[in-house]
Amino acid sequence: MQTLKGTIIYGDEFEPIDGYITIDDGIIKKIEESTVATDVIIAPCFVNAHTHIGDSVIKDPPFLPLPELVQPPDGLKHRILRETSYSDLVSSMKASIEDMIQTGTCAFCDFREGGYAGVQALHDAIGNDPRIKTLIFGRPDDEGMNYLDSCDGTGLSSTNDLEPGYIQDILKQTREKKKKFALHAGERDQTDILSALELGPDFLIHLTTAGEKNIKDIADANIPVVVCPRSNYITRSGIPPIAKMLDAGILVAVGTDNVMLNSVNMFSEMEFLVKTNLYDDRQVFKLCTLNGAKILGMDKESGSIKIGKKARLMILTKKSYNMQGIQNPLSGLVRRARPDDIIRII
Ligand SMILES: [Zn+2]
Repeated sequence: MQTLKGTIIYGDEFEPIDGYITIDDGIIKKIEESTVATDVIIAPCFVNAHTHIGDSVIKDPPFLPLPELVQPPDGLKHRILRETSYSDLVSSMKASIEDMIQTGTCAFCDFREGGYAGVQALHDAIGNDPRIKTLIFGRPDDEGMNYLDSCDGTGLSSTNDLEPGYIQDILKQTREKKKKFALHAGERDQTDILSALELGPDFLIHLTTAGEKNIKDIADANIPVVVCPRSNYITRSGIPPIAKMLDAGILVAVGTDNVMLNSVNMFSEMEFLVKTNLYDDRQVFKLCTLNGAKILGMDKESGSIKIGKKARLMILTKKSYNMQGIQNPLSGLVRRARPDDIIRII
């Protein structure tokens, strides 16, 4: 049993309250308000809802157009991954996982290339680390779909990259195994949005180019969306219409996407998102925590600070050179906090 004192970013609406949190056996047992002033912020850890940590072997690619960078089978990342040894692949992914943990992320969902072997490499990188929860979405390779039994689902690139009949077969086999199915859509243009939607995925990635009609269709179909704002900027894909998606009632979460393009640091994603796109501290924090947990089916245990949830917490100082003087702990956390303001991760 341990009790923490601080400004708690409390509940599903992330209301800052001063008080105490009591944790027993890793579970939040009690939350008490108090007027005692504190020097720390206690916040829920991040859920990074979309990554490709397999390309952690490439950290500084040239500024190429999106297809030349990531499109299978011959985009730069796929060429480099083919030439990368198994041990280099695993050790580079291990580094990205450790970076996620140390920058306050408690769960992530990775789209893993390379079929069964690719999924196994990620399992090898994660090991049995209790500090982070991982959802792995594999994709078929020459050996077919034998990856499915050892991961959580299938995560495809765009419907434009594969034959429609083949996609239907992948979907059917994924559903027969009662696994999740998700894919990228609307990253470069709108041509793959409708076909992606028609597959009835568990969620879609990007929707950078989604128009009013696309947003209405996605909302009507009740399909969640994971956006990757920094990734869209560096690939010059545009600005995802996140406020419009939220207004339409779509459940939206955030991912840092390819490690090749971005660090896995969710503080960077929050600051970028709030200053270039959403201008709403509370929504941005929700997209980076609770909404990701909801999309990944782990909101009963993670994503916010409530009694009964797991204590997946980060404790940040209010007194660093960066943080001293903040008036609103939530705004300070979203707009300017950095990993070096973290005192402790629980
Ligand atoms: Zn992606």
